[in-house]
Parts: sequence; structure tokens; C-alpha cells
Amino acid sequence: MILIVDDKPENIFSLRSLLESKKFHVDTALSGEEALKKVLKTDYALIILDVQMPGMDGFEVAETLAGYSKTKEIPIIFLSAVNTDKKFITKGYASGGIDYITKPVDPDILMLKVKTFYRLYEQTLALNEVKWKLQREVESRKLAQEELKLKVDFLHTVLETIPQIAFTADALGHITFVNEKWFKYAQSPIEFPQIHPDDKQVHTFFEKHVKSGEPFEAEVRIKDVDTGIYHFHLLRIRPIKEGGIVNSWVGTFTDIEDQKQIENKKDEFLSIASHELKTPLTSIKAYIQLLERMVKVEGNGSVSTYIHRAQDQVIKLESLIADLLDVSKMENGKLKVNRAPFDLETLVVNAIDTITHTHQHVDMKVEREGEPFVVEVNADAIRIEQVLINFLTNAIKYSPGAEKVVVRTQVRDGYAYIAVRDFGIGIPKEKQEHVFSKFYRVEESSVKFQGLGIGLYICAEIIRQHNGGYGVDSVPGEGTTFYFSIPLN
Ligand code: ADP
Repeated sequence: MILIVDDKPENIFSLRSLLESKKFHVDTALSGEEALKKVLKTDYALIILDVQMPGMDGFEVAETLAGYSKTKEIPIIFLSAVNTDKKFITKGYASGGIDYITKPVDPDILMLKVKTFYRLYEQTLALNEVKWKLQREVESRKLAQEELKLKVDFLHTVLETIPQIAFTADALGHITFVNEKWFKYAQSPIEFPQIHPDDKQVHTFFEKHVKSGEPFEAEVRIKDVDTGIYHFHLLRIRPIKEGGIVNSWVGTFTDIEDQKQIENKKDEFLSIASHELKTPLTSIKAYIQLLERMVKVEGNGSVSTYIHRAQDQVIKLESLIADLLDVSKMENGKLKVNRAPFDLETLVVNAIDTITHTHQHVDMKVEREGEPFVVEVNADAIRIEQVLINFLTNAIKYSPGAEKVVVRTQVRDGYAYIAVRDFGIGIPKEKQEHVFSKFYRVEESSVKFQGLGIGLYICAEIIRQHNGGYGVDSVPGEGTTFYFSIPLN
């Protein structure tokens, strides 16, 4: 909007008509004082200001406007009578006015100037808008930076408080912060502690993970700077992502030396205990066999029954000890398989025979489904039979009162597949993934059924060593299928 200030209504009228004919919005004031009041309330793009007015003259108005921040940018065109002294013109400019037109007004020149100023005004507005936006952007960035700094400070304080060795790294994996405890194992804040040569070398491994953005975890031994002794630590490194992109990493080393030593002692104990148990057991077994032979010769029926029972118990004890020995071998990475070609069908038939024989006291049939195998596999026959017998023993054990167990055999995609299905108590869905873990037993059944929770753990390792697959399907109350597959070649 344009403000025309003139004490003569007829001048205002002609100027107003001229401007409105060119589609400009126009406001008017009949004195300098009125103009000042209006200017404070309304935003004007341009003021056309008569110089000679009673009361406040045009220059005084312009000087006052130049003093307010709201109005100092408004362009002013002064209008003055003809033959005005040059010094008035100069005064006009000095007081902040921008242009000057003498009366009588030439409409073309006036319109030219008005349009120019109007455009200038619009450009100034646009510029101001940009400036304002930029200012806001700078401020919000400053705020974000301050917030970020607060967060980083907070993280560092937390990392200083925890009992672990902790560090942060940038997106490229370069260390950016380490806590006090770092220096027990590292001499410099930018280099990782020295890792035992036999363990995963963190920097090379970390580099790989930096590329993939995946978290990483490893048990490593790191060297105490003072004593030179390596201590077991659990190293965990997690990426911090922003909008799906890794922007930094946080890592901790947790001291697990004590835990490791206890574990080693336990494994050692397990190994010694099972070896020690094995020797007297072998003698007991031999004596029982001797007794059995003697009783056969003398024909004493009830003694023979008891001897059989003793034998059954010895077999159970033997298999328990064998399992414990296997676990201790697994801990030491010594559970190896001895491959040789054998007929898989014979193995399945033998395993079912053994089970039927050793479970005569339960009324349970073992049925076959699928195709009998006509293939030879190159595997460890004793270990594969161990897996199948374990599945069958569990199937019978965990389905009291059921009539049968079904063994399904089939060759599929280059694999021999064996599944053992029972109609027993089943395993709740959320527990199924755990049954192959060491010492895991499903709570619901562990009171009623005896066991150590290591059979399936060993089976899984045996199948893994054969590059095979294994798994379980189960519906509580309906039954369970345990299966495994081994490659034919
Ligand atoms: P365990 O000596 O306890 O039987 P396993 O390693 O053979 O040890 O099995 C682990 C756990 O899995 C068992 O304690 C039992 O809870 C569950 N389980 C194994 N087989 C079956 C099955 N056929 N039906 C229901 N639960 C089973």
C-alpha cells in the first residue's frame, strides 16, 4: 500500500486517482502528524510526501520516520513546488528520503518512480524473508549443536561411570573417546588394547563391521599394560544410527576373566569326573556279566532278573557318562567325527532294534514312514546312530502313555532326512529354539522327567560337524517331531 501525505485534498485526489488507475492500493493523510500515526499502525511500501505542509513539514516527517526501526526502510518520494531551492532538495536526501519530484507532477515520471520503488520494496521484503530464514536456520543449528554436545557429554559421563572399559568411534571406526579404564590395557587413546595373537584381531574385524554397519561381539584376551598378563574380556561394539546411517560406534570391554576361569575349572572337573566314573563302571559291568554267566549255568531265575535290572542301570549310567565326556570334548573343540561310507538303512533298522530292545518295559511301537534308504553316506556311523537313538529315547521318554513313535526317512535335495515323531507332551513354541542349548531343560517337564539337558546339545554339534541341518516342530499336548538331515556326499 502507498501512503500519500499532502495538506491539499485536491492534490491527494489527483494522485490517488492516478495510482489507483494503475491498480495500486492507496491510503492518505492530510498532515505530517496524521501520517506518522498511520505509519506506525500499517505497513506501507512507499510514502509520497508533500514537503510544504503547515505544522510538520515533509522533511521533519521523513526524519522522524528514519528514527524508527519499523519505518526507516520505507522509501519516500518528496513532492515540492517548482523552483524549489537546491538546498531543500539536498535536505530531502539527507533525511532518508529516496527520491524527489517537483510539482506540477509529471504523471509518467511519477509512475516510473513509483513502480521502481515498489519493485525495490518487494525485493527488500523478499531479501528480508531470506535473511530471516537464514537466521532461524543458524539459530536452530546452534541449538542442535548445543543439544548434541549435551548428549555427547552425557554419554561420556555414563561411559566414565560404568565398570567396563568403554570407547566411542566415528563412522569410520576411528576412536573419538575412551574412558579412564581404557589406560589399564592401552597406552594410547587412539589405539586398541593389545589383543592376544590367537584371538580375533579387533581392528581388522572392526574395519569389516564398519563397512557393513553390523554390531559385533567377541571374547578376546587383552594385555594389562603394567603386568603384561592377558585377561579375558567380552568386547561389544554397537553402531549408533541416524536415519538408518551409522554415525558413530560405542564399544565396551567387560572383564570376564573370573567367569572364564570358573568355566574352565568346571569343564576340567567335568572331564576328570567322567573319566574317573568310567573306570569303576567298566569293572562293575564286567562283574555283572560274569555273575550273569554263572547264574545261567546254575539256573536261578530271580537272581537273573535282578542282574538284568542292574545291567539296565549300568547301561544308563554308561550313556550318561558318555554324554558328559562328549560335552567336555565339545568344550575343548575335540568332538571330532570319523567319516566312512556306510549303509544308512542298516543304521536306521539297528537303531530301532536297539531302542525296542532297551525299552521292552514300555508298551510302545516304533513305526516307519517314507522310503527306506537305498543310499550309502560318508559319515560317522556311531555318531549318527547316537543322534537317532537320542531322538528316539526322548520321543519315548516324553510321551508317557502314547502308543507309538514314527520314524520318517526320505532322500531330499541331496540330503538324507530322518525325523522322529512322537505323540507326547510337546514343547511350548517359545522354548523350542532353546532345546539344543547346553543344560537346557523345558521347565514344565523337568520335574517329572529325569535328564541332564545335554543330549540334544551333543546331537546338534554332531549334525553341524556333518554339515547337516536339524530342528524341531512341536505342538504342546499333541506331540513333537525332531529331525535332522545329512548331505549324501
Ligand atoms: P534331557 O536329558 O533333559 O532329555 P535333552 O537335551 O535330550 O536332555 O533334551 C532337552 C530338553 O528338551 C528336555 O529336557 C525336554 O524338556 C525337551 N525335549 C526333548 N525331547 C523332547 C520330546 N520328544 N518331547 C518333549 N520335550 C522334549
